[in-house]
Amino acid sequence: MILICPSCYSHHIRINNYGRKAGGTIGTVAGTAGGIVAASRGAQVGATVGLTLGPAGATLGGIAGAIIGGLIGGSAGCSAGMKLGEVIDENLLDNYTCLSCDHSFSINKSQSQPPLPQLPN
Ligand SMILES: [Zn+2]
Repeated sequence: MILICPSCYSHHIRINNYGRKAGGTIGTVAGTAGGIVAASRGAQVGATVGLTLGPAGATLGGIAGAIIGGLIGGSAGCSAGMKLGEVIDENLLDNYTCLSCDHSFSINKSQSQPPLPQLPN
């Protein structure tokens, strides 16, 4: 897709993706926070399962459960946040900046695709 500045018709366009970046960061933080809850639960499950292998198994199981819970929470939150940020970029923010005239603009997907002409039946 070739982007053109609606103000000066320059082809030098920067995509900002502010929402995407912010969403990814917020999502990671939120996901990690959720992951901590999952981690403590994972630690409990891991420790319980590991307990069948003795005290060392309980410790290892607890650590493994905590790490897995935390990782899943963080990465799931990051991708969910980025998806949300993408929606914000596309719909709410002026996601594109012209490098020639500094004009910020957004591209409305519904406008970039003109409706098909109605064919007479
Ligand atoms: Zn421009």
